[in-house]
Amino acid sequence: MNLKHEILLIEDEKNICNFIATTLRTQDYKVSFAGNAAGGLSLAASACPDLVLLDLGLPDMDGIDVIRNIRTWSNIPIIVISARTQEKEKVEALDAGADDYITKPFGTSELMARIRTALRRATLSGNASAPAENRYAARDLVIDYEKHIVTVNGSIIHFTQIEYKILTFLARNAGKVITYDTLITHVWGPYADSNNRILRVNMANIRRKLEQNPADPQYIFTEIGIGYRMIDNENL
Ligand code: CA
Repeated sequence: MNLKHEILLIEDEKNICNFIATTLRTQDYKVSFAGNAAGGLSLAASACPDLVLLDLGLPDMDGIDVIRNIRTWSNIPIIVISARTQEKEKVEALDAGADDYITKPFGTSELMARIRTALRRATLSGNASAPAENRYAARDLVIDYEKHIVTVNGSIIHFTQIEYKILTFLARNAGKVITYDTLITHVWGPYADSNNRILRVNMANIRRKLEQNPADPQYIFTEIGIGYRMIDNENL
């Protein structure tokens, strides 16, 4: 069975475009590309790609608006390619519906890992016959969602209700960056104070219970100025 995934690349810099396209083809992906937002949007609709790689700085439209446009009609995974170092834009892209981002310059293996994760998540969520995701496992950590039990190395770890809510939301979105605001809204509701101090306090407690060395976390990583990313679920 040769099931090639098709990736749509929307990027106006020719060098980067060629580099990414060559890399993807070597990895056996089908690639279509557009040098501007208008061409990208029309290809996104006509070529039915499995994933979009989107540069935020396009000549004819802000990349954020491209995400918003695609999200009005499709859940296709979108990974943002950003040269911008400002966290604000990455947060904006994620909140507009992007699945992930990668910052230029990036390595081939990093790009491929992000693409694989996004494609796998999309396949799982779009496949009704897939087994229900009722367990998270990574390294020594296991979360049983049905029994509400978290173990590290077989020992049960006790969490407060809020801590458990934070942990399981990150685990269910493992591999994906979750912005502070998204997490706060999920845990405390849409009218919560968006100040993330309480979130940070809870995260410190979660890490103290979970991590061998909370200063060098192995399970939940901080994306400075953006949010948190939990290590991939090995159970899927
Ligand atoms: Ca650009």
